[in-house]
Amino acid sequence: AIVLRAVRKSFGSTVVLDGIDLTVAEREVVALIGPSGSGKSTLVRCVHQLMPIDGGSIHVHGELQGYEQHGGALRALGENAIAAQRQRIGMVFQQFNLFPHMSVLRNVMEGPVQVLGDTPDHARQQAEQLLDRVGLLAKRDAYPRQLSGGQQQRVAIARALAMRPQAMLFDEPTSALDPELVGEVLAVVQDLARQGMTMLIVTHEIAFARDVADRVVFMESGRLVEQGPARQVLSQPTTERLRSFLSRVN
Ligand code: ATP
Ligand code: MG
Repeated sequence: AIVLRAVRKSFGSTVVLDGIDLTVAEREVVALIGPSGSGKSTLVRCVHQLMPIDGGSIHVHGELQGYEQHGGALRALGENAIAAQRQRIGMVFQQFNLFPHMSVLRNVMEGPVQVLGDTPDHARQQAEQLLDRVGLLAKRDAYPRQLSGGQQQRVAIARALAMRPQAMLFDEPTSALDPELVGEVLAVVQDLARQGMTMLIVTHEIAFARDVADRVVFMESGRLVEQGPARQVLSQPTTERLRSFLSRVN
């Protein structure tokens, strides 16, 4: 589970996360929606410890992120400990960020070999399984520049899964893609959902959120304004703000 309690984050005098309480239960899929600038990327980046929070707490699988108990007080973890925590969560960004000079197979093998200490044989086997799962085993020897955006994003998902994460974060994984390539990436995410992966997904694909997410959370101006079961929240929003947001994006 991913548990945020009273999380606060500001950039200078701009409050971007204004007391966020959010739980993504084990095997639950939560879609995070909201207008541009509402703080969605900041929220998932804070969960992945790409930036520190200013207040509140984030637990992943019961483990406080970024801090440890020291005497009666909290002490910030060092870089290595933070990297170890970050490794247990996979993140997929809008841009695919593959290693351009490595083949598809090497992209997926690299983390397990370098970071987890897997043997190359084991890492290759696992990478082939994952590439098969995202439908790209035939592209194992291609380089990222030879792939479409949708294919690159599927490799990025396989690469994140290769680290055997406890949960996955997605930040608009399809918004950099041509429309005809969106479906193939969403199908991979849907497959992960069926297999019970715990996921927090920032998306503007409302139909996808309705089909795949257990719960939808609507964020505006750094606060969670409305949340609940996906179908209910999206078809019968109770706040005027979500109603007007949905009428703008649909
Ligand atoms: P979008 O839908 O456009 O991706 P978002 O909901 O992901 O928007 P964020 O990227 O989290 O929004 O940004 C929230 C606010 O925080 C914005 O006002 C943004 O300008 C500001 N912000 C984000 N990152 C930084 C940063 N590193 N430094 C300063 N301000 C930032
Ligand atoms: Mg964003």
